[in-house]
Amino acid sequence: MKRIIIAAMFAAIGAGCAGAQPVPASRLATDAQIDAAQAAPVEGFAKEGRWNEPFAPFTIAGNLHYVGTATVSAFLITTPDGHVLIDGVLAQSVPQIIGNIKALGFDIADVKYLLNTHAHIDHAGGLAGLQRASGAQMLASAADKPFLEAGAIDHGPSQGMRFPPVRVDRLIGDGDVIALGGAALTAHLTPGHSPGCTSWSLPVKAADGTQRQAFLHCSATVAGQSLVPEAYPGMVAAFRGTFAKVKGIRADIFLANHDNFFALADKRRRQIAGDANAFVNPDELQGFNSRMEAQFEGDLKQQAAKR
Ligand SMILES: [Zn+2]
Repeated sequence: MKRIIIAAMFAAIGAGCAGAQPVPASRLATDAQIDAAQAAPVEGFAKEGRWNEPFAPFTIAGNLHYVGTATVSAFLITTPDGHVLIDGVLAQSVPQIIGNIKALGFDIADVKYLLNTHAHIDHAGGLAGLQRASGAQMLASAADKPFLEAGAIDHGPSQGMRFPPVRVDRLIGDGDVIALGGAALTAHLTPGHSPGCTSWSLPVKAADGTQRQAFLHCSATVAGQSLVPEAYPGMVAAFRGTFAKVKGIRADIFLANHDNFFALADKRRRQIAGDANAFVNPDELQGFNSRMEAQFEGDLKQQAAKR
């Protein structure tokens, strides 16, 4: 497994040029673009899906926190050396996410790395606004980078839906580790739902002090995309490769980027009621993977039959 210890690299760079002011890289979205997107009404299936409806932030386990909306996830991993934020929800969700981070006692300005599961508007729309607020480095897969930087994807369920483009500072590959302040997040390329769909895993300390492995799945739904013909080259093989790969991954805490995939509200209710391990279920990742695989093969068969 490749390992990149990014935090250590930055520490070394910093030590080499003491006193020098870091030059901020230019943003891709203008202030006016970000402000307009934040102020725009939430319409269409974003409204129907309650993508911007508030949800009280909370700690899932250890230093892993939920700071997303009622139906679209954003995860914050906190460390003494700064934080990591995964996903940006919609452009309109940025003030909410920043407020959620604050409500948990943390500061958006301390977020060092922004990560993304995939470049669809409901997970990438807020990234430019969050990058502006934090000055964080955006890390993304090579395959989804062009869509993040274009502020739109050219296929799939959010095709043509524009969001403020976000500057990608660094590419991440399969097995890369983002290390910061004692936290270590591993990237798992799980293409299919998007060409560069990236899942993340990290060890966290559960309430009872035991070490648990959390896995945040990028998504593996077909989401109405064309498999026959493929919406992008290699799509069918990408999905199948992801299902096979996930079969080899073990996780105690399964997380996903929409609430219904991991029963967010139900687990949070149980957690509030006193079940400190409400988010712990070692069977959930494999159950999800099997369901997604069956759905995918069913969709593929149906689409092929219609041709
Ligand atoms: Zn998506």
